[in-house]
Amino acid sequence: MKRLSAKEFAVLCGPALFAFFLVQRPVWIFAESGGISSTLSAGDIQLADSSLKKLSPLIETKKTDGTLAVMTFEELFSPLDEREKAFFEKIQSLQPGAFGVRTPYLGTESDFSGLVPLEKQPILRQEGITCLDTQYLPAEVYEAYARMMEAMRKDLGKILYVESGFRSPAYQLYLFVFYLPRHGYSLEDTAKWNALPGYSEHGCFARQALDLINEEGVNGDESVESFELLPEYQWLIRHASEYGFYLSYPKGNPAGINFEPWHWHYGKTGSV
Ligand SMILES: [Zn+2]
Repeated sequence: MKRLSAKEFAVLCGPALFAFFLVQRPVWIFAESGGISSTLSAGDIQLADSSLKKLSPLIETKKTDGTLAVMTFEELFSPLDEREKAFFEKIQSLQPGAFGVRTPYLGTESDFSGLVPLEKQPILRQEGITCLDTQYLPAEVYEAYARMMEAMRKDLGKILYVESGFRSPAYQLYLFVFYLPRHGYSLEDTAKWNALPGYSEHGCFARQALDLINEEGVNGDESVESFELLPEYQWLIRHASEYGFYLSYPKGNPAGINFEPWHWHYGKTGSV
């Protein structure tokens, strides 16, 4: 692939458009009947929708200035009223175990000062080149990732970019709420695809996760197999551990998480 100069990138990579997808509401809305209902109450659905609408301009601004992944709780709560804020706090206090997801509590990070930004990673799509939003990695993880990609390029003539690296707890919470409508407002279904703050490897320096995407934009969104079949993925299976990266959620993993061939974590040991 032809590499563009920094100047060409700057021209091509204007602010990315951030589109919320309208998702049809389910016609069946269960009321909460004590305990945790898998589907949100009608009132909570309204709070999720109104919050996402109010947050949309802030999210767009932070995507443009490259600081979305390190968003703080203060920023997240700033456009919300008390009821909306309480709704977010209720989601934050959920335990994934209640929905059959057996991921350990990893804790949350609050000092983002040592993170390395990954800016203007170019993806060649049908409509032309677009850049990923700025991502962040702890320095040690970034260096290991860079070494791994150097080796992949030598072997395959291709590399993988980081579509999602470190995510602050506030951003992780926002993402969970953002994806609720896409999963019919089901907490159970959303929890299978999106971790709650404190339970995500994306938010844990000692076990830092990377979601990888290839140079043509294949990231598994279309189908899990589309990523699994990439030569880049096959290369990772053979070589990633040499650089300290491990597949977190292989097929049939005991954590109850769907197979995610794009999600790798860094660690000094091989434990998964
Ligand atoms: Zn991931």
